[in-house]
Amino acid sequence: MRLSKIQWKTYKEIPSEAKIESHRLLVRAGLVHKSAAGIYSYLPMALRVIHKIEGIVREEMEAIECAELRMGFVTPGDLWKQSNRWETMGSELLRFKDANKRDMCLSPTNEEAITDIFKASITSYKQLPLCWYQINTKFRDEIRPRFGLMRCREFIMKDGYSFHMDKACQDQFYDEMYGAYLSIFKRLGLEALVVEADAGNMGSSDSKTHEFQVVAEEGEDAIAYSETYAANLEKAQTFREGLEFTKAQKLEEFSTPEMKTCEDVCKSLDIPIYQSLKSLLITAQKDGAESHYLVMILGDDELNELKLKNFLGADQVYSTHKAKLENFNIPVGFIGPIGIDENFEIVFDNAIDLDSSYVVGAMKEDFHLKGFVPSRELKDFKQADLRLAREGDFDKEGHSIQIKRGIEVGHIFQLGNKYTKSMSATVLDKEGKKFNPEMGCYGLGVTRTMQAAIAQNHDEAGIVWPVAIAPYHVYFALIGKSEEIKELGNEIYKEIKESGIEIIFDDRGMGFGPMMKDADLLGLPIRLVLGERDYKNSGELEIKIRKTAEIIKTKKENMIETLKSELSKL
Ligand code: ATP
Ligand code: MG
Repeated sequence: MRLSKIQWKTYKEIPSEAKIESHRLLVRAGLVHKSAAGIYSYLPMALRVIHKIEGIVREEMEAIECAELRMGFVTPGDLWKQSNRWETMGSELLRFKDANKRDMCLSPTNEEAITDIFKASITSYKQLPLCWYQINTKFRDEIRPRFGLMRCREFIMKDGYSFHMDKACQDQFYDEMYGAYLSIFKRLGLEALVVEADAGNMGSSDSKTHEFQVVAEEGEDAIAYSETYAANLEKAQTFREGLEFTKAQKLEEFSTPEMKTCEDVCKSLDIPIYQSLKSLLITAQKDGAESHYLVMILGDDELNELKLKNFLGADQVYSTHKAKLENFNIPVGFIGPIGIDENFEIVFDNAIDLDSSYVVGAMKEDFHLKGFVPSRELKDFKQADLRLAREGDFDKEGHSIQIKRGIEVGHIFQLGNKYTKSMSATVLDKEGKKFNPEMGCYGLGVTRTMQAAIAQNHDEAGIVWPVAIAPYHVYFALIGKSEEIKELGNEIYKEIKESGIEIIFDDRGMGFGPMMKDADLLGLPIRLVLGERDYKNSGELEIKIRKTAEIIKTKKENMIETLKSELSKL
């Protein structure tokens, strides 16, 4: 393709909203055009990348017998009412009325629509298992779209849905899909980690769910990672080691004027902070009703609110409002488990040894207690894993945990029969009895993956595309003014194009400097330069490998062969 025909152009000015490098590169390299917040047009170079990602996804889905279909971008509200998500989905679901005043929405995901298709076509266990997928536009009316294609309102996703007779069958297919995802990211040329994820309100408690995270500094997600463990930080269950607790000291009150934090109190006693307990007052809301908790964690730990929310089965959890504290007569800074209003149920984190002694607030202004032993002092309490994992923790097998940043590009779930049940999708089993099949769903953000590839593969000069998804393979630049050299340039361009190598011909007639800058910014794997002076002197063209900056000279006769061999090495 001739650059003059694409009307491709790079940009120097970066919009101030572009806070991360991959977003800046996306704009600077002329890949997308923003039309509204979180809504982008994919320009010709970007669309080629998207098609290549989709191509690899299609091949890997085909390999596990997953068939492609395409559902409407608009789904009727009726389907969403059947699953009850019309009411429970927040403002992300863009609802509207059509000309006949019927409720409609833009699809943010398609469990309802696929289950509807399933109901119309599948009647017997003999037709299972099966998996359908689509690659389609999604719309989620995110309140704060940001980071370019990372968190858009309109984006492209591959979403697959499988149906099974039982959990064992679903488990087996889930593993196949997991393998297919690994192959996809490997073939895309991306370093991706599979991490245990939070199932949110999607599946049941024994349902598996994993995220595929492209490792990159600028990622929004944190991953707790060791040789044998990887989990999203919001879900990670890791352990502390080497803590020394003292057993059953006497319980006594001591004066701690102005000492409102665990750190202050422990400093005054000259003990490690973890020998004190942090007391957090939390309100949980479920179906509109509130309940209150005193959550206790080691003095130097942080609470993972998502773990608490899941443990309590709540819709949301938050710090108890100040006004409430006054009602319950709470001395802020000196809160503790003894003497707390009985409206607060007590929950200890698993890292707390219930038979050891701790410092806690005395529920009295300017006083703390030492020698507090949970199992001795209290009868009624719960214990759960509630702490936020952090660097320096250990996994179950004793390997130390690191925290890495990642971009969630894929997410696979076991859904149980949530949708088949709520939407009354049944098939007949061997005995002729009706049952609701088990489902799995498998998402992969195509456009987010494109930007994640940039996040993982760039340098100060621009993008360095993995060869599998580069818009083109060769950036061919002609430096020279004579008709003779232009003719030779055209000839070379045609020859390379006909050889099947994907080539872009920079025929814009720009100066050498700007042309080379643009080539680096766009980041095709190979740059080929025909320079009039050099060619006259040596009869050679210059090849530069974008990734390594290696320079190779080639004669025109060997050019195709050299390009092919260099490409095959990338
Ligand atoms: P996130 O936690 O990032 O909001 P999600 O968990 O809501 O994402 P899923 O429902 O699991 O997303 O969607 C599957 C995939 O679709 C994600 O792994 C991601 O790659 C992509 N995706 C989700 N939301 C967006 C978005 N707003 N913009 C671009 N891609 C998205
Ligand atoms: Mg997700």
